[in-house]
Amino acid sequence: MLKSVRDYHYPGSLDEATSLHDRESRSFFIAGGTALALSDSSRPVELIDISRLDLDGLEVDRKNGRIIIGATTKIQTVVENNAIKSVLGGFLAESLEEIGSYPIRNAGTLGGSLVRPFPWSDVIPILSVLDTEIYYYHEGETDSRSISNLYDSDFRPTLNNAVIEKIVINLPEAGKTAATFSKFNRSEFDVAALNLGCSITVNESRITEAKLSAGARPMTGKRISDVEEALIGEKLTVEIAKEGGELAGDKTPVRGDNKLSEEYRKELIEKMTEDAIREIINEVANEN
Ligand SMILES: Cc1cc2nc3c(=O)[nH]c(=O)nc-3n(C[C@H](O)[C@H](O)[C@H](O)COP(=O)(O)OP(=O)(O)OC[C@H]3O[C@@H](n4cnc5c(N)ncnc54)[C@H](O)[C@@H]3O)c2cc1C
Repeated sequence: MLKSVRDYHYPGSLDEATSLHDRESRSFFIAGGTALALSDSSRPVELIDISRLDLDGLEVDRKNGRIIIGATTKIQTVVENNAIKSVLGGFLAESLEEIGSYPIRNAGTLGGSLVRPFPWSDVIPILSVLDTEIYYYHEGETDSRSISNLYDSDFRPTLNNAVIEKIVINLPEAGKTAATFSKFNRSEFDVAALNLGCSITVNESRITEAKLSAGARPMTGKRISDVEEALIGEKLTVEIAKEGGELAGDKTPVRGDNKLSEEYRKELIEKMTEDAIREIINEVANEN
């Protein structure tokens, strides 16, 4: 718990929120507070509550082919939304439901998962296999950045001082892309010991785009470009699923920790990748 909260602000605008943040080095934006509550620091802090800034929208904009999720939208709200369930074969609703327990999803927000993600975050591999753009407010302006570049070291100072406004997911052409997410954990509510997101786009029976992201390795989610590149141009078959799995086991940087040994993680990545591609084969077959 944060033991020494000195001031608690409810800013009325993004400008006010960011200027309060700038003037105090021990200040934090707070949304659901689920991650901040884990901090055991006793140093005084100032909290800037962004939950009243109207950043809690949720829209499936079919006309422009995108999903817009406000940063302070509760994860459970996304999970339960019928329009979200009806896009991407239900991928987003089903995979976000794997996060923690109902009370955590009901308090935690997507924006709150992004700035300082836990290494075992499910959100990172889930959003990384979609075309996800993060909109943020910094120095008086709104700008956006692809999730694949969000954690570049030269962007860190900006990210640390920005308010995430919304998450925009550009939807792929219907029927050509399928995505899956899997999580290996020791009990239902435990955090991941390994997690994996995968999306594949098929055009005229060949793979035209592949995204694979593994997290809790035990390091934070990372795209596995060797596997992605190897899949492009191939036919989506069980043989290629096996080869993709073997390559993922070989090329994904992993370490051992108190949950899993390095060798076991490698074997799991291999199996989870093969299974993910096999599941996508079935989904694509059902679509067509
Ligand atoms: C018991 C428990 C179990 C969990 N299990 C899982 C799990 O299985 N899988 C998983 O992926 N995650 C899990 N989580 C993480 C959970 O998803 C996050 O704690 C939650 O999403 C954070 O959102 P929040 O609104 O509560 O963030 P807060 O705690 O309010 O903030 C978290 C951080 O983000 C900053 N912040 C918040 N919102 C913004 C914003 N809009 N712009 C800029 N900075 C912002 C804050 O300053 C702070 O540094 C778990 C957490 C807990 C406590």
